[in-house]
Amino acid sequence: MFETDSKTAEVFTPQEASRLAVLYEADILDTPPEPAYDAITQLAAEHFHVDSAVVAFADETRVWIKSSWGDSMRELPRSDSLFDLVLATSGPVTIPNLTQDPRFRGRRLCFRRDPMVFAVAVPIRSTDCHIVGILSLFSKTSRDPLSPEELQSLERFATMVTSQLELRTLRRDRERHTRRPSPRTANRRAWPQSSDLRKALESGEFVMHYQPEVDLSTRRIVALEALIRWNHPQRGLIPPSEFIPFAEECGMILPIGDWGLAEACRQIQSWTQENPRYGSPRVCVNLSARQFLREGLADHVESLLEQSGTNSRLLGLEMTESSLIPNRTVAMEVMESLRSLGISLSMDDFGTGYSSLSYLHSFPFNVLKIDRSFVGRITEGAQPLQIVKTIIELARVFDLDVVAEGIETQDQHNLLRQMGCRFGQGFLFARPMAAEDISALLRLPGQVLLNPELAVA
Ligand code: C2E
Ligand code: MG
Ligand code: MG
Repeated sequence: MFETDSKTAEVFTPQEASRLAVLYEADILDTPPEPAYDAITQLAAEHFHVDSAVVAFADETRVWIKSSWGDSMRELPRSDSLFDLVLATSGPVTIPNLTQDPRFRGRRLCFRRDPMVFAVAVPIRSTDCHIVGILSLFSKTSRDPLSPEELQSLERFATMVTSQLELRTLRRDRERHTRRPSPRTANRRAWPQSSDLRKALESGEFVMHYQPEVDLSTRRIVALEALIRWNHPQRGLIPPSEFIPFAEECGMILPIGDWGLAEACRQIQSWTQENPRYGSPRVCVNLSARQFLREGLADHVESLLEQSGTNSRLLGLEMTESSLIPNRTVAMEVMESLRSLGISLSMDDFGTGYSSLSYLHSFPFNVLKIDRSFVGRITEGAQPLQIVKTIIELARVFDLDVVAEGIETQDQHNLLRQMGCRFGQGFLFARPMAAEDISALLRLPGQVLLNPELAVA
C-alpha cells in the first residue's frame, strides 16, 4: 500500500504523501471521467453562468480530469498548473485574463479547444483537509471576479466532490469486505436452497414487518417501510439479509417480490378500513434489481392496485442505484410508468451505490433516503456532518424529500433537524414491527406520536 512504500516515502513530504494516499485509497487517479463529477460540474456551470467547469485531482506529476463534458482531455502535466497555484496559495485562485497571464502563456490549462479568458479555481479537500484536487470554472469572456458569497457557494460545490470521494472510498471498502466471504457465510451456503424458499412461500412463512418513517419535527408517522421476514418453524424469525441475496441469485425473488407487493396492498386496504378517519399511511416496498427490470412491472403493479382497490398514492417503491445500472433506458421507462400511476419512488441507501449524483439528476425520484452508514457517523466530527449536509442540500437542488435512515440517538435527531432534514426512520422512533402493532399505533387518539417522551429540540 502507498504509505508503506519506502521509496515513495523518501520522495514525498508527509503532506504530499497523505494527500496521495487519500487518492490512491479512493482509486481515483488513472480512471475514466465519471458521471458524478459531470453532474457537479454541470450544476456549477449553470449556477455561475460560465462556459465550462472541471473537476480534477493531481498526483505527483499529472493533473487528472474527472469530468468529461465540454472536453475529451484526460490529463495534463502538473507543473505550473492551476492545481499547483491553488496548492501554493492554499485557497481560491482567480485569473482575470488567462491569455495575458505570463504564468500560463502557451499552456493548455483550460482543457478545452476554444480559448478561455477567465478562470477561477477552488480547492477540493479530503475529509482530513488535504488539498487533493480543484474545481475550476472557465469563461470565454472576461467577467468580474466572484464575490465572497459566490466563492463560498463554489466551495460548497467542491464539498460535494469531497463527499463523492468519501462515498467512493466507503464503497471500495465495502466491496473488498463483501468479496471475501467469511467462513460463517461459506458454511451457511448449504441453506437455504431455492426449494426451501419455494416451500416457505407456499406455506405462508413470509411475513411483513413495518417500520414507521416520521416527520422529524412532530414525530408523526408519515409512511411505513415494509420489511420482509421469514418466520421459519424451526429457526425462528429470519432477517432478509439471510435469504434475500440468495433469492435474488436463484430467481425466487420474483415470486417472493410479488407476494410482498400483494401483501402490502392488502395491508393498506386493511388499515384504510380500520381507520376511517385518517386512513392508512403510505406503505413503501423494497424492490430488488431483478424485479425492477422485469418486463411489465408497471402493468403488474397497476393490476395489483386495481384488484385490491388500493389508492396508488398509498404505495411507494424503494430501489437502490445498483438496480438502475444494468439497463438505464428500461429503468427510466419503468420509473416513468410507475410515477404516472401516482406511485412515489425512493432512492434507497443513498451513498452506497455507484454514481449517486448522476442518477439523482436523471431519474424521476420523489424521495432520497440517506444510508444509515452516514447517519451513524454524523456525531463523529465536522466532516461526516458536512457530507450529510451536502446530501441534504443536493436533495433540495433536485427537489426531493429526504429521509435519514437509521436514526438511533437524540443527538443524531437534533443534528438532522438543524440541517433541514424533514423526515427520518430509525430505532430511536420505532423498530420494524408486526402489522398488529402498527394497527395499535394507528388507533391511538389524535395523530400518532412516536416516543412522545422525547423532547423536540
Ligand atoms: P433497507 O431497505 O435499507 O431497510 C432498512 C433496514 O435498516 C432494515 O433492516 C431496518 O430494520 C434497518 N434499520 C432501521 N432503522 C435502524 C436503526 O436505527 N439502526 C439499525 N442498525 N438498523 C435500522 P432489515 O429489515 O434487516 O432489511 C435489510 C434490507 O433487506 C433492506 O434494507 C432491504 O434492502 C432488504 N429488504 C427488506 N425487505 C425486503 C423486501 O420485501 N424485498 C426486497 N427485495 N428487499 C427487502
Ligand atoms: Mg428500503
Ligand atoms: Mg435503506
